[in-house]
Amino acid sequence: MKGFQSKLVHGDLGADSIQKMDRFGSLRSPVYDSNAFEFDRAEDMAAAFQGKLDAYAYSRVGNPIVRDLESRLKLISEAEDALSVSSGMAALAISILALVQPGENIITTPYLFGHSYSFFAKSLGQLGVESRFLDFRDLNQIKEAINERTKVIFLENISNPQLFVYDVEAIGRLAKETGVMLIVDNTLPTPYIFHSRKYGVDIEVLSTTKSISGGATSVGGAILIYQGEKWKSYAPVQTQLQKFGDEGLSRKIRKEVFRNYGPSLSPHNAYLQILGLETLTLRLDKAAVNSLRVAEFLSSHSKVVHLEYPGLKNSGYYSLIQSQHNGHGGAMVLFELESEKACYKFLDNLRMVRRATNFHDNKSLAIHPFSTIYAEFEEKKRLDLGVNERMIRFSTGIEDAVDILDDIEQALKF
Ligand SMILES: *Cc1c(COP(=O)(O)O)cnc(C)c1O
Repeated sequence: MKGFQSKLVHGDLGADSIQKMDRFGSLRSPVYDSNAFEFDRAEDMAAAFQGKLDAYAYSRVGNPIVRDLESRLKLISEAEDALSVSSGMAALAISILALVQPGENIITTPYLFGHSYSFFAKSLGQLGVESRFLDFRDLNQIKEAINERTKVIFLENISNPQLFVYDVEAIGRLAKETGVMLIVDNTLPTPYIFHSRKYGVDIEVLSTTKSISGGATSVGGAILIYQGEKWKSYAPVQTQLQKFGDEGLSRKIRKEVFRNYGPSLSPHNAYLQILGLETLTLRLDKAAVNSLRVAEFLSSHSKVVHLEYPGLKNSGYYSLIQSQHNGHGGAMVLFELESEKACYKFLDNLRMVRRATNFHDNKSLAIHPFSTIYAEFEEKKRLDLGVNERMIRFSTGIEDAVDILDDIEQALKF
């Protein structure tokens, strides 16, 4: 199979794939809702536990339908390994915990999903790992901040909710020159739109809760490992490097960190996420067409004081969208009204568009990030994080554009 969509729909069809192993020829991968698996012989059981036999033993460590989801993610992203976890936050935490030690530092930006920011600022800080928050639209800031204790450069590829788009190719080059691992949260564009492998990304993390699950069905995450060479000089992976060579990083994450922290994806959620994954491109394409219509409508509306949609020709990010995002502007629009009060009025007036967090759902969703996702931070901090009280984050769904536009138009009448 050559095409991305064919790979999404069919997944791995090799003779030993989960799909081909089903003795009834089930067209959908069966859900093995079981916590453990039985062995015919004690010898096999021992071999499985010692890693000498590739068999399922316990669902915190591995489960057939979870493996099916992983093999599909691996196939579409061309990563060396793909690991499914229970949420996007788990994906972020696990991949970083595999690489850093107290006294080391991470270079990232303040323009992050609120809980990701909180993870760096609070949780990692407590472990003695320092996070430096810089503006990645200026490469010099990154260059100047890197020192011999820097272990990770982390960014959100199209930041949520500010919709900043970075030159990941240039950052990837810098990461290569300095030998620092580049971890990218690719939740917004997904592997369909942005191909991490091409741009020097070492590890990609995803919240599969969003566009991959699609119909708001389940929470999940994924870690895609693009095994370069950099990790080989990292202290926490030395044991795995000695034992497993090139597979060391993947072994470290999958067989140690993931297993010990325990954020496994439930088999039922893996089923729901495969269902969503199969229609990813159709949904994202349709939502992006709708987003462009929404952005065009809002940009000429008298009540809108500011608007960001990177797929608009007059956006400062348009050329990066063309060169690195396959010309795909995505499905999220950020706009500002004159005040928090106006935002609340707009939200309360909506009839079809739902007032909810989450994004890239089939349904259009709107939220006021300042008073919700970022509420845990003091007001000044929220402004430093690029979130102000005038912002509405609008996630465009796959409804008919006419209905989305009608709803927005009537909701802005106040
Ligand atoms: C939602 C989100 C996360 C967290 O994902 P969960 O699945 O909710 O844990 C991380 N990064 C980005 C960019 C997100 O939008």
